[in-house]
Amino acid sequence: MTASAEQIMQFVFALRSKGVRDTRVLAAMEKVDRGLFVDGVFAARAYEDVPLPIACGQTISQPSIVGLMTQAAQIQPRDHVLEVGTGSGYQAAILSQLARRVWTIDRHKPLIRVAEERFAALGLNNITVMYGDGSFGLPDQAPFDRILVTAAAEDPPGPLLAQLRIGGIMVVPVGQSDAVQSLIKVTRTDTGYDYEELRSVRFVPLVEGVPADR
Ligand code: SAH
Repeated sequence: MTASAEQIMQFVFALRSKGVRDTRVLAAMEKVDRGLFVDGVFAARAYEDVPLPIACGQTISQPSIVGLMTQAAQIQPRDHVLEVGTGSGYQAAILSQLARRVWTIDRHKPLIRVAEERFAALGLNNITVMYGDGSFGLPDQAPFDRILVTAAAEDPPGPLLAQLRIGGIMVVPVGQSDAVQSLIKVTRTDTGYDYEELRSVRFVPLVEGVPADR
């Protein structure tokens, strides 16, 4: 499924009306076709501003939330970015347009396999896909300039805070998994961390460990 010019226009209009104003973020989201990250019967709804089901009981986030999280992260062209929660790969594909390198990690093997195929088909060769429990981050690649967590944690995971470069930004939904959560922007300073609450959101939970799927 690919988008018509009309669908893309409406998609970008909806993003703007929800507060996505950063022109680089809007350009990235105009360029990366969300229809390529959604399967089957749901593909027809890929350009609506709604979350949609993907495999393994997970969801591709609502486009305006992807836009607002990416905008809040203020990604710079030389940044190394970690995304926790690959899911469909859509958020990572947007990040790949704005950053130098992106690492994305998920605990479901079937999801990372499909995401990797999508990145290859689109020629997005600055994304590295990893398998595992992303709440521990990727110590070997740290520190990161930016970290986006796309599953809700009760608190920002300590290892991720530790892997943020000084001056770096992490955007993470925080709260109980069955309730409305708060999207938090964490900035690492010379002496600690600043926390800013952005808005309420609803994400699938950040789950510990890895399941037995292959
Ligand atoms: N960013 C995705 C949507 C993510 S949905 C997109 O653009 O489509 C949340 C994802 O977080 C799910 O795929 C889920 O498997 C993953 N996840 C949950 N807990 C995790 C953990 N501890 N480590 C890595 N991934 C996790």
